[in-house]
Amino acid sequence: MSIYIYNSLSKKKEEFIPLNPPWVKMYTCGVTVYDECHLGHARSLYIFDFIRRYLKYKGFRVRFVRNITDIDDKIIQKAKELNLSAQEVSRRYIQSYYEDLSILGIEPADVEPKATENIPEMIKMIQVLIEKSFAYQINQDVYFSVRNFAAYGKLSGQGVDQMLSGARVEIDEQKHDPLDFALWKKAKPGEPAWPSPWGEGRPGWHIECSAMSLKYLETETLDIHAGGRDLIFPHHENEIAQAESFSGKPFAKYWIHHGLLTIHGQKMAKSLGNFITVKDFVQRYKDIDLLKLFFLSTHYASPIDYSEEKIEQAKKQKKNFYAFCDKVNFWSLCSEDALPQDTSTEELSRIEDICQRFQTAMDDDFNTPVALACLFELIDFASVLISSDKKKGFEYAYAKLGEFFSIFGLALKPKISLNPAIILLAQKRNAAKRQKKFQEADSLRKEIKEKFGYLTLDTAQGLTFIEEQND
Ligand SMILES: [Zn+2]
Repeated sequence: MSIYIYNSLSKKKEEFIPLNPPWVKMYTCGVTVYDECHLGHARSLYIFDFIRRYLKYKGFRVRFVRNITDIDDKIIQKAKELNLSAQEVSRRYIQSYYEDLSILGIEPADVEPKATENIPEMIKMIQVLIEKSFAYQINQDVYFSVRNFAAYGKLSGQGVDQMLSGARVEIDEQKHDPLDFALWKKAKPGEPAWPSPWGEGRPGWHIECSAMSLKYLETETLDIHAGGRDLIFPHHENEIAQAESFSGKPFAKYWIHHGLLTIHGQKMAKSLGNFITVKDFVQRYKDIDLLKLFFLSTHYASPIDYSEEKIEQAKKQKKNFYAFCDKVNFWSLCSEDALPQDTSTEELSRIEDICQRFQTAMDDDFNTPVALACLFELIDFASVLISSDKKKGFEYAYAKLGEFFSIFGLALKPKISLNPAIILLAQKRNAAKRQKKFQEADSLRKEIKEKFGYLTLDTAQGLTFIEEQND
């Protein structure tokens, strides 16, 4: 089954066919390291992580590049505020960013290039753009001449004149046209600077991504360029203009944009006091899966609104995982006590059907709300199978669940840690029940509850499970 992806460039859902299958060359715009990662960054990182994992699951070989913008106006501004160098600021937040990636369980990118380590490539690209008359130098700055790139606006779907009336155009007296944007900026005193044919300075933000994506994906056309919806204009529009003017080839075949995150209906901002970092979240909830379940509950392209109630909802879902995993854990330790029952053909095809619907949902532009519902359905059914000692069916469902959990980077882990004393009691109880010593079995049930605080449940064959008491 093919995957269909909504392509922001064509504004249509299209069958995904990379240029050189099974290879997929994918680039996503990474963070600008001037502050802690918040939940909006987490969503972006997580979405492209599960998309990448799903592409691999489908048999594609993904080369994945995610950059780090470590030189930018915001970093320079923060350095002034903290009385540090720009390099010290970026170093501090790169460290923190890596901690967040690890908290979130995001797979490392194949390459994670830093802008400051790729300045020569950016300079070379700017030189070619000047030679081809797509860029011009004024004093020690270089600008891209937007009106010389006829296709400008094709991603954001706006005409050049419409953009001119927009508020987001930089005002700069020396530019030929207000729409033109900086490729190279002359350094102000005290700012970080690199030598260039135009004097000491630094690259503009947009040229960083064009240069690094083409370099590290070793191509002129990427299969997928991804990022947040807020980057469509001007950032991605400008990346297209630069890269296509440079190479004369289409820059990316598919553009994937995710929707943005709000908190209680508001944009997240420090000034509004609703700024939640990744570290704030784990400190409060101790479980990053809750955030992932919340993200999965909404399609990636849609906006998502964060609230504590939604995290409470995720907590209930997570409890189901735990109850199930505890059962599995216990079963795997005591299954010799059970008499396996046959799994029927209907039961096996029910598992197949759920798995098929999971894949169909993911193939349809990564429809995670539907896929997540399938995952819960499979847990419920696997739970029924295990409670009726249907070993074969259960093991098959469990293997499938493991695959789905790893696509979403979720932990399929038990909560109750089983010590030998509990296992021994449960095994004694299983034996008592087999010998129809029901009084003894009952007193062992009580002992498990009194000593460890757990409830006991029985499978159809009388095998003991334990579970946490509901609070
Ligand atoms: Zn970018």
